Amino acid sequence: MSISLLARSIAESPTLRLNEEARLLRERGESVVHLGAGEPKNKAPIAAILSSAAKLVSGDVKYVPTDGLPSLKKAILRYTEESYDRVVAPENVIVSDGAKQCIFNILYTLCNPQDEVVVLAPYWVSYPEIVKMVSAVPVVVRPEDGSFIPRFEEIERAVSSATKAIIVNSPNNPSGAIYPEALVSKIVELCERKGIWLILDDIYHKLVFDGKVAVPGTRYTDRDIESTRLILVNGVAKLYGMTGFRVGWVVAPRNLVEIMTNVQAQTTSCVSPVLQAAAEGALTGMQSVVEGLRLTIQNNRDVLMTEMRTFSGVKITKPEGTFYSLPDFRAYMGESVALSRLLLEKARVVTVPGREFGMEGHLRVSFAGSVKDIVEGVARMKWALDPSSPNEIYIGDRKMVRDWL
Ligand code: PMP
Repeated sequence: MSISLLARSIAESPTLRLNEEARLLRERGESVVHLGAGEPKNKAPIAAILSSAAKLVSGDVKYVPTDGLPSLKKAILRYTEESYDRVVAPENVIVSDGAKQCIFNILYTLCNPQDEVVVLAPYWVSYPEIVKMVSAVPVVVRPEDGSFIPRFEEIERAVSSATKAIIVNSPNNPSGAIYPEALVSKIVELCERKGIWLILDDIYHKLVFDGKVAVPGTRYTDRDIESTRLILVNGVAKLYGMTGFRVGWVVAPRNLVEIMTNVQAQTTSCVSPVLQAAAEGALTGMQSVVEGLRLTIQNNRDVLMTEMRTFSGVKITKPEGTFYSLPDFRAYMGESVALSRLLLEKARVVTVPGREFGMEGHLRVSFAGSVKDIVEGVARMKWALDPSSPNEIYIGDRKMVRDWL
């Protein structure tokens, strides 16, 4: 079988693979605690369900405009004005199958082969792979001090004449960090000065804790949407916990949106109107659901911090947003893939290896699930790794005795 070199170079999604592994283990009756998930446990907002159900019941489910339903775009224009203080036109918006397709469309539209895209570690696993899918080259900037915040000088040094774009994701998956305002403003200035596109993946921008705010990148430029180099990516997946609805959108200059629309027209045609109706329902419905979700997740974060602080040797930085933490497990094992595997095999806890996010020695531990899962998951991890923890534990209804430390 001959497979293209490009397709062969693309890594599988570790998070989706782990979801599948956990599902199969559960199907076999195993008691699995999933701390790998990138989605909260909430039900979709009722306004989203009613709106999509109405569309479905109408039976009128056909192709719709590639760039999105006008009524959903209207809701997105309002969202953009409220969140970014920018008045944009429908021609500045394209709706796609999740923020993931948004990022693919943007990079496909911007990059020639061998163009460079600067990615800041720790980064969302899919960025380097999507960059490679469009034949461009990911250039990873790693904070030299081992922190989760890259230094501006390091970013500036990574920029070359081949740099097409920089991707910024703050609040950040996988670290939960919010980039300092001074850093974001300098990146905006750098991109506008050098004519580099700045892709702001803002899908977690409302999921922030302790009164902190992720100041929108638009705050640092006076340019309007047509002349700025900023591209905004958003979606309903994390904002409303609607991951399965697969609706995201891009706000960008209209000439970019026009080309992205051609790209999308030749790949997926349009997002299902049933799902677009759901997104519209969520955006125009009661916004208290966003705050409810935020408070639940913040409480989960606090529980995780309490549990992790008693885990000797593990260093954890308090997440300021998202539903992820990225504790440093190097005191136990430097190879995160092996560590994550050990935790799954011995303790039936799913975590994602930090290596996938450009941060070896760490594990991404999600607090999107239930408090019970967080408490039990950390207890199981301690049992598997920490010799000072009791060496017997119940996993499901089986009593397990640790005999490897
Ligand atoms: N960007 C980031 C940083 C993410 O974490 C995710 C989902 N894990 C996405 C984009 C993709 O979002 P969607 O489900 O809307 O495709």
